[in-house]
Order: sequence, then C-alpha cells, then structure tokens
Amino acid sequence: MAARGRIVIEFERCKGCELCAPVCPQNVIKLSDTFNAKGYRPAQLVDPDGECTGCAVCAVICPDTVITVYRQITPHAAPVAAAA
Ligand code: SF4
Ligand code: SF4
Repeated sequence: MAARGRIVIEFERCKGCELCAPVCPQNVIKLSDTFNAKGYRPAQLVDPDGECTGCAVCAVICPDTVITVYRQITPHAAPVAAAA
C-alpha cells in the first residue's frame, strides 16, 4: 500500500515551537517566513514533491493539537490472473 498525505496547520494557533519539524521523517515541515497575530512564525507544510505520507507523527507531538492530517491510501493493483 502506498500512502500519501498532507497536513493543515492552524496558522493563528501555532506557536512556532518547532517540535513538529525535526520529527517529520520526510522533512517537509518548515517555519513560515511570516508572523501570525500572536507574533509567532507558524510551522507550515513545504512539500513540493508530495512526500508527506500522512504518518501523523507531527500531529501526535504537537502540544497544541493544531495539526490536522489527511491521509490517502492507494491499494496496489491486483495481479492479473494468468489465462489457463
Ligand atoms: S504527516 Fe508525517 S510525513 Fe506528513 S508532515 Fe507530518 S510527520 Fe511529516
Ligand atoms: S508542534 Fe504544533 S505548535 Fe509547535 S510549531 Fe509545530 S504545529 Fe506549531
């Protein structure tokens, strides 16, 4: 099974603590260059090649539960039976 995912981080609720970035196995979470209303640089998904697998490690470690994970699982095609 191949899994692809994406995450949505609540821009205004993220405090930019950076706990999520180093635990991402795909290294696709970076801090934003801009600030939210609280003065923090929120984390964001930077994934131009679609490498997020939706593993949800980032969401588990986030102390403020501001990450929502979407995961799409695509089953491999079933093998075609050989003709008798
Ligand atoms: S769901 Fe997994 S791969 Fe995707 S951003 Fe979070 S930790 Fe990284
Ligand atoms: S762990 Fe949560 S609060 Fe901390 S930077 Fe990541 S998304 Fe923001």
